[in-house]
Amino acid sequence: MDNYRLEESGAKGEFQWNACLKDLEDTLNPQSFSSWFLPLQYCSDDNDVLTLAAPNKFHIEFIEYNYWKTLAPIIEKHFPSNRKVQFIINRNLQEQAAKIDVEMLSNTPAPAPTQKKPKIEQDYYSTFNSRYTFDDFVEGPHNQFAKVAASSVSENPGTSYNPLFIYGGTGLGKTHLLQAIGNRVRERDPYSRVMYVSIDTFMRDFIDAIKNNKKNDFSLLYRQADILLVDDVQFLRLREGTQEQFFHIFNDLLQRDKQIVITSDRPPKELEGLEERLVSRFLSGLMVDVQAPDLESRIAILQHKIMSENLDIPYEIIEFIAQNIHSNIRELEGALTTMLARSSLSHTDVSLGLAKSVLMDIKGVKRNRIISIDTVQNVVTRYYKISPNEIIGPGRRKEVAQARQVMMYLCRNLCDASLKTIGLRLGGRDHTTIIYGVREIARRSREDSGFKKELDLITQQIEFEGD
Ligand code: ADP
Ligand code: MG
Repeated sequence: MDNYRLEESGAKGEFQWNACLKDLEDTLNPQSFSSWFLPLQYCSDDNDVLTLAAPNKFHIEFIEYNYWKTLAPIIEKHFPSNRKVQFIINRNLQEQAAKIDVEMLSNTPAPAPTQKKPKIEQDYYSTFNSRYTFDDFVEGPHNQFAKVAASSVSENPGTSYNPLFIYGGTGLGKTHLLQAIGNRVRERDPYSRVMYVSIDTFMRDFIDAIKNNKKNDFSLLYRQADILLVDDVQFLRLREGTQEQFFHIFNDLLQRDKQIVITSDRPPKELEGLEERLVSRFLSGLMVDVQAPDLESRIAILQHKIMSENLDIPYEIIEFIAQNIHSNIRELEGALTTMLARSSLSHTDVSLGLAKSVLMDIKGVKRNRIISIDTVQNVVTRYYKISPNEIIGPGRRKEVAQARQVMMYLCRNLCDASLKTIGLRLGGRDHTTIIYGVREIARRSREDSGFKKELDLITQQIEFEGD
């Protein structure tokens, strides 16, 4: 009975494959068709995988380089439930393929065939989280450039920003952006070969390939990508020799105008243990960063999530969560989710009290104090020995101007006051002045370690005096 069913499905598959051949014959010139497709043999299609046999590895490579875009839609048409196509090698088919046009062979960039490996598996269909789209990526001053660049790359891959290098701290949306590119490109062109790979997987496969003498297959697989999305490149740890291979895959793709997008938790120059030329390859495209979101953006992100899930949560609770989680959007979402879970498990309404207890658990009891703008002002003016009127007033004396910017910076970071509020408290200054001040201090504290110490000292004092 089972046998019968198997045979039946085999026959059906064969029939479907013949339909594919018919379509290919109608599409291609007779020479290409008989050289490359007639020699293929249908093997099976189960578990979502269609398996075809080809005479040798080179044959497979040639089809993949040159005919994938023709073949994929035809296969999808006749094998609608298959998500993967796998080629295996059957040397008995060699004879039939002997007619391959020698000129065609010499024109291709593919490496000479090696017969060692019996089988290569191809999975062009990297899966993307459907939630990671551009529509669901809330834009703010902290991620605007990154979003524009990513979106432009997804509309015109390989043409403008190549490679695109996105960097920034954990939980700030890098993977989201990377997968949004994948989702968008796939939406526009379902047959485009978008490959997403975390650097861990990449390295593991790479090292395996070297061990098993399958380096060529490995590099071939990646060289077939139309778009290669590489996540978390900061974990790339390869010895010099292996970095070389990595470099060649990158170079090869870039030279053929294939798009590469890379994410990292730090800029290329700060990546440790990477060869200079790899770093400069990363630098040769466009670099954009994602920063920690400001209060308004954190609120907007929570609101977006709440709206998209059709929830109803009072604004003061959203604001409270946003005020207390600063530098990681994953944690921000986590706090919301935990709160909702607790509310539904304990059959209580979402309340400020509930939000407080969740945040206390997440952050520990340490930072549950809210620091007021007054405290910041008191400590800063005392430290710089200036009067409260001076710091608010219009005076431009150097010490005063600096104290004022320090106050802007600390209010922003410690009190989570909005730009508007800080501006008002500082004598009605415009929000752009505040943004500028905050940035200036952030820059100086990065560049001047003496100044950073000073800032830390003031911060400690404020936290100590906090209301
Ligand atoms: P990273 O890769 O930088 O560590 P992720 O991309 O994994 O961060 O983002 C962490 C979480 O925060 C994800 O669930 C993501 O959807 C969400 N997220 C990050 N940035 C945004 C944003 N701008 N709008 C909406 N959600 C975001
Ligand atoms: Mg990530």
